[in-house]
Amino acid sequence: MTTLADLVGVPVDVLKSARRPVRSVAGPNRRDGAGRDGAKGAGPARTRADALAEMGIEDLVDLVTHYPRRYLDRTTQVPISDLAEGDEATVLATVRRVQRLQPRRGGRAVVTADVWDGHGYLSLSFFNQPWRAQQLHEGMEVAVSGKVATFRGRRQMANPSVEVVEGEWEGRVVPIYPQSEKAGITSMEIASCVAEALGYAGVLEDPVPAAALEAHDFPGRWWSLCQVHQPESVAAKNAARRRLGFDELLRLQLVLVMRKRALETARQGIAHVVGSPLLARFRDGLPFPLTGAQVRAIGEIEADMARPVPMHRLLQGDVGAGKTLVALWCLLTAVAGGHQGALMAPTEVLAEQHHMSLSAMLGPLSVADDGSLFGERGLRVELLTNRTAGAERARLLAGLAEGQVDLVVGTHALLTEAVRFARLGAVVIDEQHRFGVEQRAALRDKTGEKAPDVLVMTATPIPRTAAMTVYGDLDTTVLDELPPGRTPVRTLWAREPADVEAAWGTVRREVQAGHQAYVVCPLVEGSDKIQATSATEEYERLAEGPLAGLSLGLLHGQMAPRDKEEVMGAFRSGRTDVLVATTVIEVGVDVPNATVMVVEDADRFGIAQLHQLRGRVGRGADQSWCYLLGDAATPEGQQRLAAMERTTDGFELAEVDLDLRGEGTILGTRQKGVNDLKLASLRRHRRYVVLARDVATEIVRADPDLSGHPGLARELRALVDDEDREYLFKN
Ligand code: ADP
Ligand code: MG
Repeated sequence: MTTLADLVGVPVDVLKSARRPVRSVAGPNRRDGAGRDGAKGAGPARTRADALAEMGIEDLVDLVTHYPRRYLDRTTQVPISDLAEGDEATVLATVRRVQRLQPRRGGRAVVTADVWDGHGYLSLSFFNQPWRAQQLHEGMEVAVSGKVATFRGRRQMANPSVEVVEGEWEGRVVPIYPQSEKAGITSMEIASCVAEALGYAGVLEDPVPAAALEAHDFPGRWWSLCQVHQPESVAAKNAARRRLGFDELLRLQLVLVMRKRALETARQGIAHVVGSPLLARFRDGLPFPLTGAQVRAIGEIEADMARPVPMHRLLQGDVGAGKTLVALWCLLTAVAGGHQGALMAPTEVLAEQHHMSLSAMLGPLSVADDGSLFGERGLRVELLTNRTAGAERARLLAGLAEGQVDLVVGTHALLTEAVRFARLGAVVIDEQHRFGVEQRAALRDKTGEKAPDVLVMTATPIPRTAAMTVYGDLDTTVLDELPPGRTPVRTLWAREPADVEAAWGTVRREVQAGHQAYVVCPLVEGSDKIQATSATEEYERLAEGPLAGLSLGLLHGQMAPRDKEEVMGAFRSGRTDVLVATTVIEVGVDVPNATVMVVEDADRFGIAQLHQLRGRVGRGADQSWCYLLGDAATPEGQQRLAAMERTTDGFELAEVDLDLRGEGTILGTRQKGVNDLKLASLRRHRRYVVLARDVATEIVRADPDLSGHPGLARELRALVDDEDREYLFKN
């Protein structure tokens, strides 16, 4: 029997229908020659396979997984005469008249066309698309989609999308394929290639265990593949898309679960000694008791660390939940047993902040040292960034290589060749969505035979489904509780001038009451220098205007480290009332006496960033305020600010963020598998992500190398990229 894997590498032009020349005049790319009018004698005819190749469709797998973008339900078609102004509609109609209007000098080219569906006329106008005059012909059947407007009683659409439709689709569900216009191939031409490809493939085997499919009522693979391209009904195509989407998620989760296993088995880990007296002393030295969530998180981490299997764990928690303390606990556990710990941060500012807060939390803690007179010495924590230079750097590198440095905090600089550790035992990576899987691996490999334990933490929560995917090769710990005594921040979106005035009023009132405030300057495009200039101007404007008479400090990324420390010191000690700053204060800054945060042009910031900024206030027992200034220019900006106003729950905001931005932007391009999600969506199919995870975990648990699931193994081998394949199928 054939599987999807057998179609990998089979070129599209094995299909007769793909060797046929494209008939249509193409879109913008083909204006100059290859089209119906220009093709005379211009070399070999361009085939459908050529056009498909331009769309990135090279082999039969690409082709049969090139899914329709939309469907036109001809079983329940709305006639043009029933369309109302403002409707988003798709109609199937015949082109009646095409006209190219001569552009006025400097004006835009306009092509107009009338289409008729037996019930009414619709006028189409295309701006700056002169090629439409060649594409559209009288008598042609087209599917037109767009927004309906009316002008002098006539229905119109401006710049609609148009698909050329041929054949007998009456009473059927018509698949509309993506990108067909631009590559010069119509949706119908693609459909005919796909139909032949399905015939070529024969009946494909279903590699997913039947039990999992039955339990969740999924239809078969082959049926789904046929129905997604040639649906019998809308319900059938929906079921088919669900099933094929699930398959995508399952493949991704299998890769992740197997990668996780590979990480755990590839190298031996260190069986750390947990609960040593050093940790007890550390805990006793803290000015507060641990929260319940911290105790639970530490328990999970210690259980991992004690095992001789390398830990790979994700620590999630809302802003201010106390992740740093948990991370430090992990590092100290390694140090207590004579190992070293490293914390890697994505930016220099953040590394400096972490270094400062770790040093502060550690206080005068000492570790055992047989070589010294008293059998112990002070714990040594160092900072390594690109700014660490010369003799200082050499001394630090030697200390790491020889083992006198217990803890190091740093940036990417930690990954450079010259950095070696004597006994690296634990690594904490503060990700902020910025480090890749490869970088995590690089740090892990900087030491002897035994792999150090790895804890990854994120600055703000990420949605569960995204975590399962981006961090799907890690176990997860969630800090789901804030330290006691925090009062939720009251957030106000200040849209009107009066609201803005009220914001400055609150700043003045709170300062009067002995508290402090932050003002975050608008984000400006361009260099850090331009940002700094703009922040300086804002500082001056505030000092002379709304905040005149208060004592203001200015902080931005272009200042020398010494000046920054000076400004921060003044604010921390209460000598300045208001800190006017760029987003450099986003991270780490911790001044419980600050009770107001004003964010200017707030709609220019992302949700995660706003949430992180807001986390700078509400750290003490007093009521705090956050004012988000500005009239959001886009609907998305409005929804962001409305969400910020509505909730302070970072997990909830993360879900909103996923909804607003879509998975692409949240996950970035780093997770290659995510780009293979054509039907599945982390956002719309949250339930299936979890389901795929469960099914994958179960399969790999019972059959780690998939030898009992040859179909799945072949499919993964064929469909995952080289890097994954290498360690998934080592033997
Ligand atoms: P996160 O990194 O999770 O955003 P931090 O680790 O910066 O949060 O902690 C926020 C603040 O809470 C810090 O001032 C920290 O000292 C304090 N903190 C941490 N744990 C506790 C606790 N158990 N009780 C009270 N305060 C705590
Ligand atoms: Mg371990």
